[in-house]
Amino acid sequence: MIGIVSIVLAVLQVSSAACDTNKYANSTPIELLQAYVQINTTTYNDLTPAVEFWTALAELADVSIETHELVEGFPILVLKWPGADSSQQSIMLNSHMDVVPASLEDGWTYDPFLGIIDNGIIYGRGTQDMKSVSIQYYSALRRLKENNVTLLRDVYMTLMPDEEVGAESGMIPFLKTDAFAAMNVGVELDEGTPYPLPMIALFYQDKVVWQIQVDCHAVSGHGSSFPATNNTATGKCRNVVDRLFEFRDEQYEIAATALPTAAGGYTSLNLNKLNGGTANNVVPSVVSLVFDIRLSTTLNEVQFDAQLREWISEAGDNITLTYILKNQQSPATVVNSTNPYYVAISEAAEELGITILPTVPPGSTDARHVRNAGYPAFGFSPMPNTELLLHAVNEHLAVSVFNDGIDIYEEIITRLANIPADSTTTDHSAYLYSTAT
Ligand SMILES: [Zn+2]
Repeated sequence: MIGIVSIVLAVLQVSSAACDTNKYANSTPIELLQAYVQINTTTYNDLTPAVEFWTALAELADVSIETHELVEGFPILVLKWPGADSSQQSIMLNSHMDVVPASLEDGWTYDPFLGIIDNGIIYGRGTQDMKSVSIQYYSALRRLKENNVTLLRDVYMTLMPDEEVGAESGMIPFLKTDAFAAMNVGVELDEGTPYPLPMIALFYQDKVVWQIQVDCHAVSGHGSSFPATNNTATGKCRNVVDRLFEFRDEQYEIAATALPTAAGGYTSLNLNKLNGGTANNVVPSVVSLVFDIRLSTTLNEVQFDAQLREWISEAGDNITLTYILKNQQSPATVVNSTNPYYVAISEAAEELGITILPTVPPGSTDARHVRNAGYPAFGFSPMPNTELLLHAVNEHLAVSVFNDGIDIYEEIITRLANIPADSTTTDHSAYLYSTAT
């Protein structure tokens, strides 16, 4: 627990009388999304304007907001909608405030930080990933509150500062705080992705990331010297690449025939950096390679680590392996009738007439940290019939899809937060299982 270093900067509980002067008092949900997109929250930017935005929205909804700054400059926000019985495990709706960089020079039709609406479509960074989802959570909860609907369980909205760069100052330390423990979380919802078909993906596990650097050392020499290939840094690197690409080809074969919902069934591997050499006429003494690897959910991490080391040792002597990133494989959330949280989401989908598809995505989200901490978590972004434009130029979302998503969350949140007290166990591990063998 690192609760002692958690600084609660502000706890606001304000009366609705204060709302008269609130600048967002008459804003529709899509106008709130526009206003949020207009706050440039590119990772490492000052998030103070975003904190002020959410403080104003909490005030409008007459709910409390806490700011936890575990690392200076990286605020974590927690908005609490109390249920009828706060002793029950709560529902955590997570999203991240930060977005990846964007600029007009990249080829955007509209300024990515204006939230321009053209022909029923809102354009801007974060319209898919994932400011839309934050506003949808909020709008659904506020509508329920305004309709005097009291849910059984507490619902929390958490907003993270640095998901796009690995969550080292956000979700990862937050999960170790007393503040998180006090939330008594039963299940977490996190981001999903759009789907170009009339269905919504429900992520129940994320692939984890390993990034490795391989340095091949050899004796330097004049450009006119002619050492044996296996005695050069580049020759050793070639051997490393050959072995890893043989594995890549095997995995590519699996990926090529896998369903889009089955990205957990293969390991992706890309050689993303090659560095080496000092001059055109000098044989280099060191060449380094950086590989980005996304592990299959069924891959045994210990065996794969041993396999990597074996390939590298076969490639020659004086080759070193360094892990830049080595995420731990996360368990999967149970997606069958034994998990009441999954049942609640499935029943909501049935009621709404939407199709939900349990999926393992090619990438990863903050939900992997939540699952690693032992809590069931689902990735879900209600964006059916939508082109996937996460991190892309001209990221956009149909206003109708955005508004429908609020209705979808209203139903899902209601069902999750009204799961009867005796239907869930406090033993979270009952809703998680390991798929690695
Ligand atoms: Zn995201």
